[in-house]
Amino acid sequence: MIVFGFLKVLLGNVAKGPATEPFPLGPATTPARFRGKVHMDPALCVGCAICRHVCVGNAIHISERADGSGYDWVLWHNTCALCGLCQHYCPTGAISMSNDWHNAHLQAEKDEWCESRFVPYLVCERCGAHIRPLPTSVAGRLYADNHVDVARILRLCPQCRQIETALHEGVRHDDQRVA
Ligand code: SF4
Ligand code: SF4
Repeated sequence: MIVFGFLKVLLGNVAKGPATEPFPLGPATTPARFRGKVHMDPALCVGCAICRHVCVGNAIHISERADGSGYDWVLWHNTCALCGLCQHYCPTGAISMSNDWHNAHLQAEKDEWCESRFVPYLVCERCGAHIRPLPTSVAGRLYADNHVDVARILRLCPQCRQIETALHEGVRHDDQRVA
């Protein structure tokens, strides 16, 4: 009787096929919400460094270039704990976590095993100062109630943005008084 029971289970399992992933002989699936390697979109980065501040593994490094042309944002995959805090706290959505878990690499590759992004500074159209770029989506939110030309605001430094916004508001209020 015991033998029959065993054979029944055995044949049932053979009919169902393997219950584990075929990796490394075949692909391994990962859940959609799996926290894998971190990516950063330089077009959305404002250089606030919150990601570096909250990083538990001290994996994120941000440094300005000596020639003032912009800054380098580097994340070392080997020290990243995949906690997701940088993604959670990034105010612009520049950081995302992929479901790529392939982190094995050769010793010779360790110095390149990072997500490295260069974010160039812009030059203020009004005063010529170097400025950190402001993503369009962020500017749209910040200036939603100011009735200013957001495309021009993006090309100005923070001080010139204040001046431009104040001048614009002053003209608008004068127009309203006259009307
Ligand atoms: S990636 Fe996000 S949190 Fe990090 S510096 Fe850029 S905008 Fe700030
Ligand atoms: S996932 Fe966590 S450990 Fe990795 S870079 Fe982001 S904050 Fe740092």
